[in-house]
Amino acid sequence: MREILDCDVAVVGGGIVGGSAALFLRRMGFSVTLLERDWCGAKASGVNFGGVRRQGRPLEQLPLSQRAHAIWGRLPELLGTDAEYIRSGHLKLARSEADLESLIAYRERSAGFGLDLEIVAGDEFRRRFPALGDRAVGGSLCPEDGHANPRLVSPAFARAAAAAGASVREQTPLDRVERDGDRFVLLSGEALEVRSRFLLNTAGAWSHRVADAFGEPVPLVSLHPNMAVTEPLPRFLDVNIGVEGGGVYGRQAPRGNMVVGGGRGFALDADRARPQRDAVLTLMRDAAELFPQIRHAHVIRCWTGVEGYTPDRNPIIGPSRTTPNLFHAFGFSGAGFQIGPGVGEALAELVRDGRSSAPLDAFRIDRFPPDTTATP
Ligand SMILES: Cc1cc2nc3c(=O)[nH]c(=O)nc-3n(C[C@H](O)[C@H](O)[C@H](O)COP(=O)(O)OP(=O)(O)OC[C@H]3O[C@@H](n4cnc5c(N)ncnc54)[C@H](O)[C@@H]3O)c2cc1C
Repeated sequence: MREILDCDVAVVGGGIVGGSAALFLRRMGFSVTLLERDWCGAKASGVNFGGVRRQGRPLEQLPLSQRAHAIWGRLPELLGTDAEYIRSGHLKLARSEADLESLIAYRERSAGFGLDLEIVAGDEFRRRFPALGDRAVGGSLCPEDGHANPRLVSPAFARAAAAAGASVREQTPLDRVERDGDRFVLLSGEALEVRSRFLLNTAGAWSHRVADAFGEPVPLVSLHPNMAVTEPLPRFLDVNIGVEGGGVYGRQAPRGNMVVGGGRGFALDADRARPQRDAVLTLMRDAAELFPQIRHAHVIRCWTGVEGYTPDRNPIIGPSRTTPNLFHAFGFSGAGFQIGPGVGEALAELVRDGRSSAPLDAFRIDRFPPDTTATP
């Protein structure tokens, strides 16, 4: 027999975006059903690097990112756990004078957004960050950025939503969705039918399938950032490290393991990906140059994930152009972990007020022509 659920808002996808949207909607008093094909937080949101970083984002993301920053500061109250979230600072390294100039220019452009960036170079840099190798000539420090354990924080949003009264259905794929008058009708196999007034498409790298169902193709591609982690090491690094121009990034987890990222893995199919052996070797070589302390450390695991990227590397957030009461939020292009809870809150506001208090114009779906297609 088919179970039928009626609710105000249906959410497809229980990553950090869908989970936090469900939580904020419940706190506003909406009835919510969240469908998750796998386990909540098992995909990109649970396997990422754990960088909780505003520094380096395009300026148009900073208002949302600031909103998210405030939410990250409330994790114990919202989720009942701090999820190893630490405001350690994020230090973006410059490997040349030209890179340092570029960090200075970003500090000027982003002044007024509350990042409080500080440029550190020369002797002062060596004195404050003695653990870093000689490769960097200086860096830009964002003192209140940090890092967290994605495996703890991302499922916790969906769990908190469930504790607040949302119906969170794991191992429950959305297989078909259609409109019936002003209701959405979502079908998961033969077992479940969900009827709702609003629909949130927060299905990560698979969101284009939901958008397609409403005649709204999007140019989303799946890519797979490489990650590796060493055995626990004596503590040598507090700050979360990035590098101007990209290539490698690293942080030391509270237990001492050094988590590093860089390069790309490869897809097995649309749902699964594996780290690329050569890219992991390159990553470890580059990381050991920046962090001499890991030169003889054992790598105990390497992995990757499936993340949706847009051509301009900005997400799609906001109303559908074809279907009233459908809101999209996907395409975070490798940087949706920090901003995710801010996006969840913005989606809840869109449902309640029809608008978000943070500007979303740069993320409109109609910046892409309607005849583009996704490459899963
Ligand atoms: C290896 C890696 C490292 C990264 N590092 C960082 C970082 O350091 N900092 C940062 O800010 N960002 C980082 N990111 C990006 C960040 O993890 C993502 O942008 C963010 O987690 C996206 O969250 P989401 O909720 O949109 O997607 P997801 O976490 O992918 O969640 C989408 C969910 O939708 C579900 N779903 C899909 N289709 C259906 C369906 N038909 N029915 C039901 N459920 C469905 C999926 O199972 C999945 O659980 C990284 C990403 C990866 C992969």
